[in-house]
Amino acid sequence: MDNLLLCDPDRKCLNEIAEALPALVLTGAGVSVATGIPTYRNEAGTWLRSDPITHQEFLKDPRQRQRYWGRSLLGWPAVRDARPATAHRILAQMEAIGAITHIVTQNVDRLHQRAGSAKVTDLHGRLDRAVCLDCKTFISRDQLQSDLLRLNPGITRTTVSARPDGDADLADGIVDSVTVPCCKQCKGTLMPDVVFFGGSIPNERVLEGKLALERARCLLVVGSSLQVYSGYRFCKWARDSNKPIFLINPGLTRADDMATKWRIDADSGLQAIFERYCEHRKEQNLKEQGINSA
Ligand SMILES: [Zn+2]
Repeated sequence: MDNLLLCDPDRKCLNEIAEALPALVLTGAGVSVATGIPTYRNEAGTWLRSDPITHQEFLKDPRQRQRYWGRSLLGWPAVRDARPATAHRILAQMEAIGAITHIVTQNVDRLHQRAGSAKVTDLHGRLDRAVCLDCKTFISRDQLQSDLLRLNPGITRTTVSARPDGDADLADGIVDSVTVPCCKQCKGTLMPDVVFFGGSIPNERVLEGKLALERARCLLVVGSSLQVYSGYRFCKWARDSNKPIFLINPGLTRADDMATKWRIDADSGLQAIFERYCEHRKEQNLKEQGINSA
C-alpha cells in the first residue's frame, strides 16, 4: 500500500519538499487570489489587464498621477479589507515551527504580516503607505484615503474590479477632475511605496532576500509565474548554489525547466506540504528515539 502511495507523483513531490525544508519561500499573486485580490496573469502566463502606469509616467506626468490616485481611491478598500487566505496562515505556522526561514513576496498587500509571518521582505514595496518623493516622509494609506475622499467627494465606485496594485478602472472623463493630495510637510509629490513597472527595487531589499536564500536549504516558489525578473533571479541564485527549487503553481512558470513543479493552487499545495512536513518530523523523531534506545 505504501508503495502505491509513493508512486503517486504528488506524494513523491511532497516527500522531496518535506526532506528539503527549511525553505526560503517566494510568493506571488497566486497566494492572495482566494482573498478576492485578483492576479495579473492567467494560467498560461498571459497579462490580463490593460498596461499599468509606469514609474517614469508617474514621475513626469501630473495627469497620470491623477489617473493613478483616482483609480486607487476606488481600488484601495478592496486591498485594505482583504483577509489572509489559508496559504498566508499556513506559511505563518510553517515559520513558527522552523519549516521556512523567510518569505520574499512580490505582493504589496501585506497579507503575510497580517497572518503573523515575522520574517518577510516586501520585494515590490507595500501599498499601505505612500512616500513623499521630495522629503521621503511616509504617510499611511488610510490617512491618504481620508484626504482623497475629502478632496474628491464626486468620485464614487462607478467601476469594475480592483487590481493587485490597489488600482481600479476609472472612466477617462473623471480623471481630469481628480485632486491629488500633496505632502503635508513640504508640499512634495506623494507616491505609493511600491515599485512600479520600470522602477527599481532598492538594493538592500534584494540583498536581504539573497542572504535569506543562503540560510535556507531550498527555494519554494508559491503562486508566481515568475515572469518578472526580480522573482525569477531567486531561482537562478538557488540553481547556482545547488539548492533544490520547488514550484507550487497551477499554471506555467518561467522556471519550469529548472525546478520540481507541482501544478496545484497555493492553499491546497501548502496545506499538503505542512501536513507532510509534520509527519516527516514525527518519523524523524521516532527514528532518533529508536537509535537512542538501541
Ligand atoms: Zn515631503
